[in-house]
Amino acid sequence: MVAGNAGKRQNQYRILQLLHTAETLTRQDIATQLNLSMPTTLQNTNELLEYGLLKECGAMESTGGRRARKLALDENIALGLGIDIELKHVELVITNLRGKVMVQGELPLQFRDETAWYQAFQAGLEGFLQEHEVERHRILGAGLSFPGIIDGESETILRSHIFGLEHVSLDRFRACIPFPLVAANDANCSCFAELTPEQKTYLFVSLNESVGGALMLDGTLFTGDSWQAGEIGHMLLVPGGKTCYCGKQGCADPYLSPKALVQEGQTLEDFFRLVEDGDTEACACWDTYLEYLAILVTNLRMMCNTDIMIGGAVGAQFRPYLEQLREKAAKYDLFSRNIDYIYVCKRRTHSFAAGAAMLALEQYRSRLLEEEMLMKLRTKS
Ligand SMILES: [Zn+2]
Repeated sequence: MVAGNAGKRQNQYRILQLLHTAETLTRQDIATQLNLSMPTTLQNTNELLEYGLLKECGAMESTGGRRARKLALDENIALGLGIDIELKHVELVITNLRGKVMVQGELPLQFRDETAWYQAFQAGLEGFLQEHEVERHRILGAGLSFPGIIDGESETILRSHIFGLEHVSLDRFRACIPFPLVAANDANCSCFAELTPEQKTYLFVSLNESVGGALMLDGTLFTGDSWQAGEIGHMLLVPGGKTCYCGKQGCADPYLSPKALVQEGQTLEDFFRLVEDGDTEACACWDTYLEYLAILVTNLRMMCNTDIMIGGAVGAQFRPYLEQLREKAAKYDLFSRNIDYIYVCKRRTHSFAAGAAMLALEQYRSRLLEEEMLMKLRTKS
């Protein structure tokens, strides 16, 4: 019996999903793992090869018989657009299907929820796509990273302390972005950017201008009852302590954002250079910072019992100091034999924008098999 088009597409989608996480597989592997017959597997993989969505790449070691060719996703066949709304600018990236950044740019636009801003953004995005000759027909979707609480159901930015706004509809962005759009909180985006088939459960600590966090559970972002899961920047660290931008006293944010490290006019790079050079003041400041971070991290570990990943602007420079943090954490965690659950993020740059693009690719991957998309990819590639 010939499978209907919908059934065929469903099998092809399952094959694409499988190869998205598995790098390379033989046709036999695919048939076994998806419980498909060999003729069905052959027919579908041949079609996917013909569309250009898969590619053949080398052969398995011969076991005496015919060599089995391996198949892989052609990761450059389609693209994602990532948009990161930062405090003083907008970062743009184009990634391939696996989230590798191919092109990046920056728009010097300070976000305001005003018509003029959206117009300037639309013109800037257009200029970026033109300047880099991005083939729009290959873009599956766009992801927006925003420093605020995003309600994924009503598609609204519920609140952003940093920009001092509430209830902004994503429709305003949608009107000036010519691709299917998905939006997420910035820490959720950079958490997603770290997802690999090997590491699918972890708590991400985003040490940025505003401190945040996100919880990845078996490859899915956990958002909580009201989209606020992982807002660790506002967990109480020092009762009666420094005033946080949220209005509360003693939140983790003012102790763990880069602001706690740098002096006026200094960059984070300057600060770490001083620490490396053994500057007394900088070293003392860093030691205090690590002490607070150790308290936060061990509390989080107690709650989640998962790996803890250090990310954000401070995380990007953190690798030489990981052991120092682990040693401090050992003082507060008497439950773990080793403090081997603290890691440093892999991405050092563009993590918000790349993560947003990856979220869009995840959400819109099935578009690869829409007839219109297939036709465009076929004629242009
Ligand atoms: Zn706060």
